Amino acid sequence: MISITFPDGSVKQFENHPDGYTIASSISEGLARNCVAMEVDGVKTDLYAAVDRDAHIRFLTTKDPEALEILRHSAAHVMAQAILRLYPDARLTIGPVVEDGFYYDIDMPPISEEEFPKIEAEMKQIIKEKLPVVREEVSKQRAMEFYANEPYKLEMISELEDGSISFYSQGEFTDLCRGPHIPHTGFIKAFKLLKVSGAYWRADPNRPQLQRIYGTAFFSKKELDDHLNFLEEARKRDHRKIGAELDLFSFHDEAPGMPFFHADGMELWNTLLDYWRSEHRAAGYVETKTPIILNRSLWERSGHWENYRENMYTTVIDDTEVAIKPMNCPGGMLLYKTRRHSYKDLPVRAAEIGLVHRHELSGVLSGLFRVRAFHQDDAHIFMTPEQIESEILGVLQLVERIYSTFGLGFHLELSTRPEKSIGTDAQWEDATNGLQAALERYGKDYTLNEGDGPFYGPKIDIHIKDAIGRTWQCGTIQLDMSLPERFDLSYVGQDNAKHQPVMIHRVVYGSIERFLGILIEHFAGRFPLWLAPVQAVILPINDSLAPFAEETNASFQQAGLRSRVDKRTESLNKKVREAQLARIPLIVTVGEKEKSAGTLSVRTLDGQVHYGVSTGHFIQAARANIDERALALNIFDN
Ligand SMILES: [Zn+2]
Ligand SMILES: [Zn+2]
Repeated sequence: MISITFPDGSVKQFENHPDGYTIASSISEGLARNCVAMEVDGVKTDLYAAVDRDAHIRFLTTKDPEALEILRHSAAHVMAQAILRLYPDARLTIGPVVEDGFYYDIDMPPISEEEFPKIEAEMKQIIKEKLPVVREEVSKQRAMEFYANEPYKLEMISELEDGSISFYSQGEFTDLCRGPHIPHTGFIKAFKLLKVSGAYWRADPNRPQLQRIYGTAFFSKKELDDHLNFLEEARKRDHRKIGAELDLFSFHDEAPGMPFFHADGMELWNTLLDYWRSEHRAAGYVETKTPIILNRSLWERSGHWENYRENMYTTVIDDTEVAIKPMNCPGGMLLYKTRRHSYKDLPVRAAEIGLVHRHELSGVLSGLFRVRAFHQDDAHIFMTPEQIESEILGVLQLVERIYSTFGLGFHLELSTRPEKSIGTDAQWEDATNGLQAALERYGKDYTLNEGDGPFYGPKIDIHIKDAIGRTWQCGTIQLDMSLPERFDLSYVGQDNAKHQPVMIHRVVYGSIERFLGILIEHFAGRFPLWLAPVQAVILPINDSLAPFAEETNASFQQAGLRSRVDKRTESLNKKVREAQLARIPLIVTVGEKEKSAGTLSVRTLDGQVHYGVSTGHFIQAARANIDERALALNIFDN
């Protein structure tokens, strides 16, 4: 007899060695039907595995996020099986689960998405066959024999320990896999292949290029449809597409991963930074600037030369090795050391919009989200240990003010001391308590990631949530015990003795380029008026009205609005359509009627048209909306 303990603490006895399905059936038929897999003493296992000892068991049903991962990985097997049925010469490598889906890397001639329907049809057939998925433990010897003609699988097996190798089979298809898997292929109720791209075997450009085919799977058609709608919405918001439509930025082969900002992109950039500067000035920050090229000895001192060199661009100037900075911090340390500090002038809040370069592999570059050159809205705050709590609280409040201006929600995560770390127990305790006390005083919920901090100090990460529910880590507040030590920073305390200041790095936007990309997608390019690169366009309905349009434009510009006149001899309809595609918040049309009455017709971004608006009223409403950085698209709302 064995005893099985369930999550609610109840215990049941079983004879022989029951499998999970039998155990689930003893509770209810419905449960057994919905079980995808189980967890035996914390280890995920196939539902049909026999339980041969006393154990704690938790069933994973179709409602569990972990079950969804098992389903998706099983869908990868089904896809591989379908591909082998259609392309018998294809060679399989690995097929892991990723966020929201799965992929399989396969050595085969390049395929296009046009071939997906054919593969999907074969997958449907395999699912309809409800093939049982069967696990088998095999010796290394037998695995090598089985895969004699499969170089990738052979390479993987050669790296495995004998006794730890298992195969999973469904119908004629067998794959080397640790599992667990769904009980039979019929569990896959909804799936879709999404895209294909090239990927090198083991990410090594010297090894063969494989076809990486992505897909996703769900337990219901409804969930799949919701997900596909979400992907469609994200695709419509793609900042690369909107960036081109709004003429904001571009990329060129002459400088891969380094964005070129166009005139309207710079308007957006400068508006973002003007706002940033006003908030930081009000919060007691000063702004500094350090060079982007610094010599090797500095990077040795900071530790980057040893730990980060592959990502740094280096060159030789006057026989001296130098590097383009990947971070602003070491320069910031030198700045702090240019004068003597007393406890009376702490905290020092020194900000720097610093241009940094990091060498990213060309394959991972992605619009403004992943670039090789970007600006960080850094600040280093130097303080006494007693100031930790109030300074961190100040940063949290600043972060909230800035994010809420964009209508972005956010959540906080505190990561604490990892196993390998520098600094004393007392330093870590002070630092962690300081951060925690600030979070408590701030009062918003936060997640605690125990032991997940960097080696040099605890940190708070800030994850924002955009308009379609995606989260992005942007802000971070990191306490650093390493650099003040390495750069021998000090201040004179009340006791007249030298002390080491506590230092934090913090960013709010993070990478300004990436934040801009996030904002473009968050607003789908429909920026609130204060942020829009072009705030108003004036469309005269014919050439004779051009002077009146120019006059109106001059009064807009005098009021500080970013406006322009579209004088092209195109139809009014076409000009309105183009202005709408450019997401210009205020589209102003002027005709004879408007000219004689001295009024305007105004189309706001919410699609409403307002007739007979006096120029004075228009300017006043627009200014009010801009000055309060309102999110409302209709400036006449209040
Ligand atoms: Zn597998
Ligand atoms: Zn820093």
